[in-house]
Amino acid sequence: MLYQSFLIKYAEIGTKGKNRYLFEDALMKQIRRALKEVEGEFAVTKEIGRIYVRAKGDYDYDDVIEALKRVFGIAWICPMFQIEDRDFEKLKKEVADYIGQVYPDRRLTFKVDSRRADKTYPLTSEEMNRELGEALLNAYPEMKVDVRRPQVMVRVEVRTGVNIYSQMIPGPGGMPVGTNGKAMLLLSGGIDSPVAGYMIAKRGVKLEAVYFHAPPYTSERAKQKVVDLAKLVSRYSGPIRLHIVNFTDIQLYIYEQCPHEELTIIMRRYMMKIAQAIGGETECLALITGESIGQVASQTVQSLAATNEVCSVPVFRPVIGFDKQEIVDIAEKIGTYETSIQPYEDCCTIFVAKHPVTKPNVKMIHRSEENLKEKIDEMVKTAVENRETVMCR
Ligand code: ATP
Ligand code: MG
Repeated sequence: MLYQSFLIKYAEIGTKGKNRYLFEDALMKQIRRALKEVEGEFAVTKEIGRIYVRAKGDYDYDDVIEALKRVFGIAWICPMFQIEDRDFEKLKKEVADYIGQVYPDRRLTFKVDSRRADKTYPLTSEEMNRELGEALLNAYPEMKVDVRRPQVMVRVEVRTGVNIYSQMIPGPGGMPVGTNGKAMLLLSGGIDSPVAGYMIAKRGVKLEAVYFHAPPYTSERAKQKVVDLAKLVSRYSGPIRLHIVNFTDIQLYIYEQCPHEELTIIMRRYMMKIAQAIGGETECLALITGESIGQVASQTVQSLAATNEVCSVPVFRPVIGFDKQEIVDIAEKIGTYETSIQPYEDCCTIFVAKHPVTKPNVKMIHRSEENLKEKIDEMVKTAVENRETVMCR
C-alpha cells in the first residue's frame, strides 16, 4: 500500500469562526460514516485546520477515494506521507523517498511548497523550499525545477508531524450534513426529486423523505424503486427516514369531487400539506421538491404559486431553473438515473386529466376544494397517522 494517510482539506467550513469545531466534528462524523462502507479500519482525527484519515492496515485505495468523494464538506482529498519526526535532515530523506515511491518516472518538473504552522521550527519556509529542492535534485538528477508551472508541486507541511503530499483529488464541496438543520424531501420515483435532495444535502441539510403511493393503482415495485432511490441518495446524505403515505383515498375523493382538469394541482397541494404535517412532527424546517419551471402543467409559474400557497414553511426547489438535461447530468453523476428511469407508474400519472389547467386560478381552486370539506381533514389525518416508515441507508 503506497499511502497510509490522507489529508482532508475543507473549504467553506474553514470560515465559520467560533463554530468551526462544530463543522469539523460534523465532517469527521460524515467521513467515519462513509468509511464504514469500505473494508479496512480507519482513524479519523483532527488538528487545527486539518482533518486526517489514517488506515490502520490493509484497505482498498479506490474504495476509500470513492467513499470520501461522497462526503459533503470535503474540498480536497490528499493522499500523503505523514511522518512524526520533524528533524530536517531526516525530512530531506523522507521527501526524496516520497518522490521515489510516488513517481517511478522522474523526468518531471517540480517545485517545493513548504509551510510551517509552527513558527519555532528552525528553518523558514523559504529555506525549506531551497534545501528540499536541492535534496531532490541531488537524489534525482533527471528532475528539473520549474517554479512557474511545475508538473509536480511537492507540498511539505510542518505541523505536529510533517505532511508530504503532491496529489490533490477534488472532493464534492458543500458542507457537512448535519450542520444546517433538516428538511423533508418529497421523493417520487422520477429523475428530479433525488437530484433535488442531493443538492440540498450538499449544503449540509439532513434529509427526511416522504413518498405518496396509491395502491392498488401503483405497485409494490414502484414503491421499492423509491426506497432504492432513497438509499442511493443516502450514500451522500447519510441515512434517510422515508415516510410512505397511502394517498389512494384522498386521490379518489378529489377525483370524485373536483373538476378533473384541476386534479393535479389540488393533489399537489395536499401532498405539500401532508409533507408539511409530517415534517412538523419530525423537526423538518423546510420542504424540498424536484420542481422545475415549465417542465409539466403542474410546474408553470401559476401552478407553482398555487401549490406553494398551502405551505407555511420554506420550500426549496434547487432544480427550479435547470433544463431537464442539466438535471439528468447530475442524476447520472450521482448514480440515481438508471433507477429513476425504470418504468413504474407514478401516482401523479394515474388520474391525470387529458387537459390539465396550466394557469390555475387560486380562487377557483379554493372553490373546488370547498367540495372536499366534509371528509378531507379526517382523510389527511388518517394518511399521516397510518404512514409506514422505512429507514434507508
Ligand atoms: P420527478 O422526476 O422528481 O418525479 P416530475 O418531473 O415527475 O418530478 P412532478 O410529478 O410534477 O414532476 O412532481 C414534482 C415534484 O413533486 C417532484 O419532484 C417531487 O418532489 C414531488 N412529487 C411528485 N410526486 C410525488 C410522489 N408520488 N411522492 C412524493 N413526492 C412527489
Ligand atoms: Mg414524478
